[in-house]
Amino acid sequence: MCGIVGIVGKENATDILVQGLEKLEYRGYDSAGIFVTGVNEQDHLVKSLGRIADLRARIGQEVQGTVGIGHTRWATHGKPSERNAHPHTAGDHQFILVHNGVIENFEEIKQEFLQGEQLAGETDTEIVVHLIAHFSKEAPNTKEAFKKALAVIKGSYAFALINKNDPETIYVAKNKSPLLIGLGEEFNVICSDAMAMLSQTNRFVEIADGELVTVKADKIEIEDETGTIVCRDSYEAQLDLSDIEKGTYPYYMLKEIDDQPAVMRRIILEYTDQVGRTTIDQTIIEKITESDRVYVVACGTSYHAGWVGKTIIEKVAGIPVEVHLSSEFSYNMPLLSDNPFFIFLSQSGETADSRQVLVQINDLGFPSLTLTNVPGSTLSREAMYTLLLHAGPEIAVASTKAYTAQIAVLAVLAKAIGDKKASPVSKAFDVAHELSVIASVMETIIDDKITISQLVEDYLAVTRNAFYIGRGTDYYVSMEAALKLKEISYIQAEGFAAGELKHGTIALIEEGTPVFGVITDEKTAAHTRGNLKEVESRGAHNFVISLASLAKETDQVILPDVHPLLTSLVSIVPTQLIAYFATLQRGYDVDKPRNLAKSVTVE
Ligand code: GLU
Repeated sequence: MCGIVGIVGKENATDILVQGLEKLEYRGYDSAGIFVTGVNEQDHLVKSLGRIADLRARIGQEVQGTVGIGHTRWATHGKPSERNAHPHTAGDHQFILVHNGVIENFEEIKQEFLQGEQLAGETDTEIVVHLIAHFSKEAPNTKEAFKKALAVIKGSYAFALINKNDPETIYVAKNKSPLLIGLGEEFNVICSDAMAMLSQTNRFVEIADGELVTVKADKIEIEDETGTIVCRDSYEAQLDLSDIEKGTYPYYMLKEIDDQPAVMRRIILEYTDQVGRTTIDQTIIEKITESDRVYVVACGTSYHAGWVGKTIIEKVAGIPVEVHLSSEFSYNMPLLSDNPFFIFLSQSGETADSRQVLVQINDLGFPSLTLTNVPGSTLSREAMYTLLLHAGPEIAVASTKAYTAQIAVLAVLAKAIGDKKASPVSKAFDVAHELSVIASVMETIIDDKITISQLVEDYLAVTRNAFYIGRGTDYYVSMEAALKLKEISYIQAEGFAAGELKHGTIALIEEGTPVFGVITDEKTAAHTRGNLKEVESRGAHNFVISLASLAKETDQVILPDVHPLLTSLVSIVPTQLIAYFATLQRGYDVDKPRNLAKSVTVE
């Protein structure tokens, strides 16, 4: 969470910083700020509560500098306010710091080193900049003061630090939180995500946890924990600026929903050959087939994709799969099988909760695979293997195409494992063909979005709550559909196993409560319809999403038939559109829901 940018160069940095923050706004947007210096010995600190647009409105012509840092915040310590917005300063404004992450021992640091110090706000970050100022009194230079502070700090961080008296340099350090260095001609930049600085450069250098980097206009110097200078090659970011623009779309979420057929086709190209055989690296497949159980570890939408993946892998490949929430797994590890294999699902590859589990299972020596959309991300680097989602950047906070990409890649993986094990189900499962059918069906649903928009007005205009119900995969889709609806429209929504409702939650059904039934499985269709009848008798306003072969004329959305193992990839699409239109109709910002941020890099 939170976005950091910085630049040391020769030209005015202000606009580059603000544009960079706009690109990172998906990571957090409760407040923002920049610090620039280096022109006419003037420096400027501008902060604002709210969005980057609010910050931009405060930046006058005079705010110029060749060196600067910027931050868009997702508050963890201290409420969103101008005082708590970064950058923070200390030592009579000599030191200026931005931070992504959480300092766990900030109270202890305050007690031990900063008694009597006047603090402007309540953030954990402010303690760190004061600590640096404190150590600078005895340290020979900024770097040594920064090192001393880093030695005391516990927690997660990406820091960018400027000393106003030495304004040609940005000092950078990271632990667990992401940060990259971008290389330019006569300038260098820093950013939480390459996207932020793509307009300046496409050459980037990764930084490892524990390293301290000195960034100047003409050079960067990476030092590891032992003080040794590290040489590291740069890489070219495989991103196109057009991938991260909205184009003619009103919101990224709609663009990303519409991208899904193209993503399915890209996954077919990336992971299967012309005759439909899977092309996933055989060393991954061998490692998985050697294991006796697969553990999928994930959070939020990825966790829901994991449940769908479990069904596909178990049916196609015949390996038992358990699905776990990362934040639970790390503190309450279940009893593991003798030979486990771990799959981490993380759109950003930076999810702190999942990374914590990966560190634990790496310590235990178990093999792992990360499915992520971001090459070079932390979970990708630290897992034994990576499969990329090839979904293209996903910028709307509510995940859509990353979810369907995760399921599609898991389906190809299931096929590859099943073929290796000579499973008859796998033999009959032509995943490349089935995914191409899915792509076309997704297109038909997307083309008819106007119908969904009208239905949403009828069902969700005034309701306070709503339910999604289904069985098996339809239940897993219901969980994701409810999450989508609640996270952006703020309608309190729950995804329920259809048969479970009557064991308690049915008490919440009132006259007019919208209940969405998802029906794509022949063996449970009649039962889910029975459950819909039960809630209808108690006043529910039922909305049915069904497959054509199982449909009744009165169903609201009827989907063309697809392979039974892949129905989630089509049944989820109308639910994404339902969430989108419900949010639009209520007048909320679809892409940036309150209290949320895109990549959850704090525990
Ligand atoms: N913990 C810091 C704060 O609350 C940084 C949060 C962030 O990563 O945006 O200000």
